[in-house]
Amino acid sequence: MPKPNPRHPKFPVPGGPELRAKGWRQEALLRLLENVLSVGEDPDNLIVYAALGKAARSWAAHRGIVKALIEMDEDQTLLIQSGKPIGLVKTHAKAPLVIMANCNIVGQWAKAEVFYELQRKGLICWGGLTAGAWQYIGSQGVIQGTYEIFMRIAERRFGGDLYGRFVLTAGLGGMGGAQPLAGRMAGAAILCVDVDPERAKKRQEIGYLQEIAPDLDTALAMIDAAVKEKRALSVGLVGNAAEVYPEIARRGIVPDIVTDQTSAHDLVYGYVPKGMSLAQVREMRDDGQGQLMAASRASIVQHVTAMLDFQKNGSEVFDNGNLIRTQAREGGVANAFDIPIFTEAYLRPLFARAIGPFRWMALSGEESDIARIDDLLLEMFPENKIITNWIRLAREHVPFEGLPARIAWLGHGERTMLARRVNQLVASGELKGPVAFSRDHLDAGAMAHPNIMTERMKDGSDAIADWPLIDAMMLCSSMADLVVVHSGGGGYAGYMTSCGVTIVADGTDAADERLDHALTNDTALGVMRYADAGYDEALDEVAKKDVAYIRLG
Ligand code: NAD
Repeated sequence: MPKPNPRHPKFPVPGGPELRAKGWRQEALLRLLENVLSVGEDPDNLIVYAALGKAARSWAAHRGIVKALIEMDEDQTLLIQSGKPIGLVKTHAKAPLVIMANCNIVGQWAKAEVFYELQRKGLICWGGLTAGAWQYIGSQGVIQGTYEIFMRIAERRFGGDLYGRFVLTAGLGGMGGAQPLAGRMAGAAILCVDVDPERAKKRQEIGYLQEIAPDLDTALAMIDAAVKEKRALSVGLVGNAAEVYPEIARRGIVPDIVTDQTSAHDLVYGYVPKGMSLAQVREMRDDGQGQLMAASRASIVQHVTAMLDFQKNGSEVFDNGNLIRTQAREGGVANAFDIPIFTEAYLRPLFARAIGPFRWMALSGEESDIARIDDLLLEMFPENKIITNWIRLAREHVPFEGLPARIAWLGHGERTMLARRVNQLVASGELKGPVAFSRDHLDAGAMAHPNIMTERMKDGSDAIADWPLIDAMMLCSSMADLVVVHSGGGGYAGYMTSCGVTIVADGTDAADERLDHALTNDTALGVMRYADAGYDEALDEVAKKDVAYIRLG
């Protein structure tokens, strides 16, 4: 039975034992599509997160996809082009059920303005990373990543945790909404600025944000008290970051950590310029795009200038993956890239071992299935401190949104081992239903994004997009259930290409084979990508885990 979804009553959370499709593989993908809308930011308009990241191109396209998933046989493959179903072809039961290409525009044309025009004509949509691939699980999808970043900084600069430390950030949207909870889990007093009161309210309602302050003075007083008492606290403030950051800097306050997760990548549909109301901005999105882009960029210049001031005064400042430095540099802030990107600064040693954000969703809709898999993780990886610490914290702090799901940073071999054990638990009936496995597109072999994932790679291979394409082709040959290639849309047009994958553990031997091949090969490619770029961690992994990387003499 689907579960009611009070925030979006038209989009219930799927679940239960009844199948509408001809098999669990098809049903699973249908439930994942339903799930991204149930936890999305604006499901009425098919928007899942990151300003314009959509689950399908239009409602007609959505209906076509649902019908195809329900009616298709296991030996067919559904083809999807930028969120629209194109057709079904006869393949075989070991082939992917769904393959997609979303928002891939030829190089010289891959610009925001071209994207907006194609979108206006109904020819394209952007799938974000996990929206169009039906893998989004709400703010929890990035929460461990955000938490790990905070903890790496804590280890380097603050003695191991963030108790008694002030973190300043902005953006309480689909992904940015993970920040207050991740900050609190790390012990910080974290202030999160968002221009939209509805976003702040939503994060508070779902348990990610504790307090909303009525004004900046009160917010700073709350943070100050928590810092003095070394008490973890998350405070939201409704305001424009391009005003609030410079004002905090003007007062001479130096937060310990500063970042930002507004949708700065998109100057039209994402970022809200200072001095403009949300209503005004929404109106201008259709017929005032040029003016809006200029105003957003001017605000981002002030926003990033304040971040650079904080950095000069000793704050740990980083770009949290939203292209804000790129926008500021285009606006004339020549030293915007003095601010490091989080991947290179904190997480690359993990990616170089293909350790990254792996996730699973309980298709039964039962939280007890996730609890059982949590136990399994603790049993299987008792020596892995990152995992054991994370699972204990996540159990205590992370509320479920939509289908019960979990994210955990696992690497080569580990993902496969876990998924195959879960498949056995599905087969034995210990879990109440099948489980779908996927990962973020921000993963070792899966993404080329020279201002985020692959910035300043050791061998200079930042902009080479062969890796995600090889990944996708390899995953199709490795029996994955859904394989997708995404490129950037909106403000990300021309900035990235990534690959996504989903595999369903339905308890069958065939699923065991699929999980084994697809997950093992996916992380093997991740190790090879970093080995090829000359990272010692990856070469160590090649040696330790017998990865068949071909090293030329
Ligand atoms: P979203 O569109 O759901 O939310 C963005 C939020 O920013 C909204 O709540 C909006 O009101 C707020 N905002 C816009 N302009 C503002 C301003 N001037 N001041 C204050 N608030 C403002 O987007 P999201 O899914 O939360 O993603 C945010 C950004 O993070 C995107 O650029 C996305 O691509 C990026 N991202 C990074 C990672 C990562 O791995 N680090 C992961 C996911 C998303």
